[in-house]
Amino acid sequence: GPALLFVKTSQGKEEGRRFYACSACRDRKDCNFFQWEDEKVSETRLAAREEYNRNHQPFFTHRQNVDRYKNFVLLPLSKRRFCRECQQLLLPAEWEKHANHQFLCDITTAQLKSPSQLLYPLENKKTNAQYLFADRSCQFLLNLLIDLGFRRVLSVGTPRLHEMIQSKASQEEEFNVRSLLLDIDFRYSQFYTEDEFCHYNMFNHHFFGGEAARETCRKFLYEENGERVIMVTDPPFGGLVEALASSFKKLMAMWRETEKEGHDNRELPMFWIFPYFFESRILDFFPSFSMMDYQVDYDNHALYKHGKTGRRQSPVRIFTNLTPSMIVLPEEEGYRFCTVCQRYVSSDNQHCEICNSCTSKDGRRWKHCVLCKKCVKPSWFHCNNCNCCTLQKHSCEKNDIGCFVCGKAGHKRSACPSLSLT
Ligand code: SAH
Ligand code: ZN
Ligand code: ZN
Ligand code: ZN
Ligand code: ZN
Repeated sequence: GPALLFVKTSQGKEEGRRFYACSACRDRKDCNFFQWEDEKVSETRLAAREEYNRNHQPFFTHRQNVDRYKNFVLLPLSKRRFCRECQQLLLPAEWEKHANHQFLCDITTAQLKSPSQLLYPLENKKTNAQYLFADRSCQFLLNLLIDLGFRRVLSVGTPRLHEMIQSKASQEEEFNVRSLLLDIDFRYSQFYTEDEFCHYNMFNHHFFGGEAARETCRKFLYEENGERVIMVTDPPFGGLVEALASSFKKLMAMWRETEKEGHDNRELPMFWIFPYFFESRILDFFPSFSMMDYQVDYDNHALYKHGKTGRRQSPVRIFTNLTPSMIVLPEEEGYRFCTVCQRYVSSDNQHCEICNSCTSKDGRRWKHCVLCKKCVKPSWFHCNNCNCCTLQKHSCEKNDIGCFVCGKAGHKRSACPSLSLT
């Protein structure tokens, strides 16, 4: 899909030079597309790029994959193979081509219903950053949105939530929630029809399946028979908030336009799952959102596991445009209701009388700094040089360019105190 326009700034210069780069890959190693905005592109280079793109299409189309799946499920267990190297379901005629590859045998129906367990997570930090929900977090999210009365879930980059919904829907008669998965990971097209999965890039709102896929999404967002819809998204944390917000606004607009009478002034209800240190960035784009204290846990992320079992606490939270008091967090996992703030908070999150809110972002008890006029992390202290609270160990040197994460001067993104968990 379309590239994004970036700007290269060099210190001391007012204006930077603008260039286009791939929206999905934040590492030049994954996609080398680069073009200055004012650059003239020769016919040969254009042709070479088109040729490159043609050669890098997936081997099978989504349609073909759906047909292959139909044939695959007809096979007896003994003939159901999955190539681990190609990450592909194999039909018997294809075995020979994959003879030197590692494969799994006897793929059960249960395995086909949980592709996120069968496929290996694409952990490449700069592109897919596939971190899968721990079962308890996934279950919590699903129960929460059911209790809130939603019957349709637009799952944007949440394959495991999608899979949980799909699999319950096929097993439990009375379970009436539906989900549509939008994700850039095309491997999922092997397991879901065009009505269940759209190959989608959430950094530029691009539907790889063209108008037909767009229409599938539009139809899904149209609320028939009072079936309310919510969007749940868990983007790669390295992603640009600005690009994500722009795509999400387009999905919101798509929802708004499905209703002839209009939704009054309502917004498409949304859960945006993202680390707490992006709070101010998200609120810049979505002022109606608030951050919940719930800590979202992951299976394959050593850092982001729940603190209650002695492991590190997860910095990942739910941002939502729903009324905070409606988001009920489980008491047995250490959350309580603050009557002043009218929302559930971590049990250690103390209500600060001066700030008049429960100010902790990371679940630990924060302390109020009178000089900063706000609450800060327990491990921070007030530095008179920097004129703010920060880690004890820091250099007071000033940098001209502000940090990309918290926007403050004095440090780069990699050294941002917000990113540190200690
Ligand atoms: N916790 C979620 C997975 C989140 S990981 C779950 O368990 O369901 C991030 C997801 O976003 C991955 O599924 C990844 O494939 C997808 N993704 C990464 N980049 C994307 C992009 N540019 N567009 C759409 N989806 C993307
Ligand atoms: Zn293979
Ligand atoms: Zn409070
Ligand atoms: Zn305070
Ligand atoms: Zn201070």
